[in-house]
Amino acid sequence: MPQAVEPPRDCFDALARADAVFERRPTTPTREGCRVDEAVMLTRATIPLNRPTLMTCPLAHALAAFEREVVQPAAQRHFGRTVVQLVHYGSYVCKPQTGRNDRLSEHAFGRAIDIGGFELEGKTVVNVRQHWADRGSRGAFLRDVAKGACRHFNIVLTPKTDFAHANHLHLDIGRFTKCDA
Ligand SMILES: [Zn+2]
Repeated sequence: MPQAVEPPRDCFDALARADAVFERRPTTPTREGCRVDEAVMLTRATIPLNRPTLMTCPLAHALAAFEREVVQPAAQRHFGRTVVQLVHYGSYVCKPQTGRNDRLSEHAFGRAIDIGGFELEGKTVVNVRQHWADRGSRGAFLRDVAKGACRHFNIVLTPKTDFAHANHLHLDIGRFTKCDA
């Protein structure tokens, strides 16, 4: 049996070293089987979130690396600017996978986050719903970010995937792999 990848023992230390702002939270399993291990209420990985959200420490850590290695370099390339806010539509949500009731979503374990857009310095806003198919720099930025996300997350779902993902990028560190960039 292949072993599930153990998150680093010092995930919380590593997250703090990445300059993240977060609070540790207890694991509180629900009757439906939802639970978030190594839970953190994340305010910022490296880029401030529009609102704090609950997730596993390993997801927060992956988010920090993704922001540093993919999001900010892409923002520099396409706009010559820094991303100052990450707009998300939620991480932990106790719910089944879209379109099926027999399997819990990775959101139910705090191992997924839905990203709706990015705000750059100078009030430039890039929105997945509006700009994914945009022919200018906003669209190119989003599609670049999605491609780069596949190096940091196991599953990347985009507006290419289906209508349920028309307005966000679903990024998760669950067991399965898929790159719809
Ligand atoms: Zn999602």
